[in-house]
Amino acid sequence: MRILVIEDEKKVARFLRQGLEEERYAVEIASDGERGEALASAEGYDLIILDVLLPKKDGFEVLRSLRAKSVKTPILMLTAKSSTEDKVHGLDTGADDYLAKPFAFSELLARVRSLLRRGASEKSTVLTLADLQLDTVTHKATRSGKGIDLTGKEYALLEYFMRNADRVLTRTILSEHIWNYNFDTGTNIVDVYINHLRSKIDDGFDKKLLHTIRGVGYALKESAQA
Ligand code: CA
Repeated sequence: MRILVIEDEKKVARFLRQGLEEERYAVEIASDGERGEALASAEGYDLIILDVLLPKKDGFEVLRSLRAKSVKTPILMLTAKSSTEDKVHGLDTGADDYLAKPFAFSELLARVRSLLRRGASEKSTVLTLADLQLDTVTHKATRSGKGIDLTGKEYALLEYFMRNADRVLTRTILSEHIWNYNFDTGTNIVDVYINHLRSKIDDGFDKKLLHTIRGVGYALKESAQA
């Protein structure tokens, strides 16, 4: 899952990037409101973390412009103080949630997970497809109750696939959302990771879940039919 952080305070931005990357999210930072709005309008993010006090364009203005442009990405606002006015204003303008600074990173993470769930209209922190389960809090995966050891990138891939089950995902989409940049055409790193992930979740099971859609990309789904 790919997150855009719009925050001008370097210390906070660094702290957010490090913490979120440790949780296997791909993170991009914009350090002013204009740059943040441009990125948020042009690229596919799964979530935006938006500070209120920003140079060039403040968080409320950015939020208003994005919603006016029909950018529907979930937005978590960081308010400088726990002022009720700021919260109400943010929520009224189209923020999905807010968090007052200073905040505990664990609370930020819980809100991030909750917003990503809402995006996918799920209720549980455990993602399930057939007998495959992925716990987004502990990062543990199981198939038919048997534990699967995943590397960081494999976890990120599987989480993205499970949140987008039954959808065909191209290599470009996967590289953007997992690696946060576009690969030169011709590199096969996505395929290499997919092959590792596939052997971990499908080997030894009759029912295969990770399917290659020839000429298009990949899909995680129960049925082999396209
Ligand atoms: Ca700020």
